[in-house]
Amino acid sequence: MIKRVILASIGEIALKGLNKSTFEYQLARNMRAAIKDCGKCDVSWAQSRFFVRPESESFNFELALKRLSHVFGLTFASIAYENDEVTLESAIETAKASVAAKLDKISFERELTDGSVKFKCETKRAFKNFPLTSPEISAEVGGALLDAFPELAVNVNEPDFIVRIEMRENVYVFSDIVKAPGGMPTGSNGRACLLLSGGIDSPVAGYMIGKRGVSMVAVHFFSYPYTGERSKEKVIELAGILERYCGELKVYVVPFTDIQLSIRDNCREDLGTILMRRSMMRIAERVAREKGCQALVTGESIGQVASQTMKALVCTNAVVNMPVFRPLIGMDKVEVMALAREIDTYDTSILPYEDCCTVFTPKHPKTRPNLDEVEKEENRYEFAALEDEAFRGIEECEYGG
Ligand code: ATP
Ligand code: MG
Repeated sequence: MIKRVILASIGEIALKGLNKSTFEYQLARNMRAAIKDCGKCDVSWAQSRFFVRPESESFNFELALKRLSHVFGLTFASIAYENDEVTLESAIETAKASVAAKLDKISFERELTDGSVKFKCETKRAFKNFPLTSPEISAEVGGALLDAFPELAVNVNEPDFIVRIEMRENVYVFSDIVKAPGGMPTGSNGRACLLLSGGIDSPVAGYMIGKRGVSMVAVHFFSYPYTGERSKEKVIELAGILERYCGELKVYVVPFTDIQLSIRDNCREDLGTILMRRSMMRIAERVAREKGCQALVTGESIGQVASQTMKALVCTNAVVNMPVFRPLIGMDKVEVMALAREIDTYDTSILPYEDCCTVFTPKHPKTRPNLDEVEKEENRYEFAALEDEAFRGIEECEYGG
């Protein structure tokens, strides 16, 4: 019997050895979570393919496909036609079903005349005992399709679409594929705390670490009324976009105004940004430990601004006792911006609301601070009590859709 299913492919997980099944179970859980509102269905896997089989008439294929195109661990997803009989005849019948749907779709865009739609067949044969080779199957199925659909003509160099045939424990035929990001399934590799500003960089940093299977929480430092409600909403929206890829991302909003004002009023202006960054890192580490995270993640990149010179990063790093992952460290801003566009955070990031960093930026920040002088300046003021208070005032926020 021919059924419509979703077929999805995995990337790096396929290379895993004995622990592969841990990753597969995690990926299946994440896929189920991503499509939980698309209708009743079953998620399973065999070899390096994952399958979603609808269990209700109203299953929303298009929405499920879109959701799966964001799931870390998958490299592509497609609506496929599945046949539980594995013969050449069943492959031909299944290909006909798939091609009929594809031609239907093309006919919405343009008029079909004889030979006007170019195609080619590509076959994968995981079922190695099958009597025909992959090129032979492609040729047989291609010939049968030409007989069945006069609109078709073969063109292996510039096809309008490819008929992809997979001979496995079942036969699968599909054409259009939707790219997915690859990486490792979220939840398969520890937990980190992302310092999420409203800028372009930190959401991209979160995406990159999330892509390696790390689940995350986010902290955001908020300086009301110097930064307004809308800038907070923007950060929560950015977290919502990241959630498409890496599942739940709670945002812990830290009231940061008093700390920033104390730095401004009591400390050397040229070290203000560094002192603020150190305070952020200390608080973020506390949140991280409380939430079971093993590392911090920031969007810093060497030399991007005064607080990200080598010496400034040394001063910032010196206050924490857990690894700080800076996935953008060697990237140019244009490269980061390109990735931000690709993952769809860019348009939200460039909304013009103030970030707490920009509000109190010194006119002449020191670009080569010494750790000794920074520590000396910091010790002139009692920040611990203020940081305790900020920590107690943390508000938990979640993207509401
Ligand atoms: P972004 O574009 O992400 O805002 P940036 O280039 O503006 O980064 P900075 O403002 O110096 O750089 O911040 C460096 C990093 O510190 C950010 O990438 C982010 O991880 C963290 N950070 C900065 N401001 C905040 C904030 N208000 N809340 C949480 N983290 C922040
Ligand atoms: Mg910023």
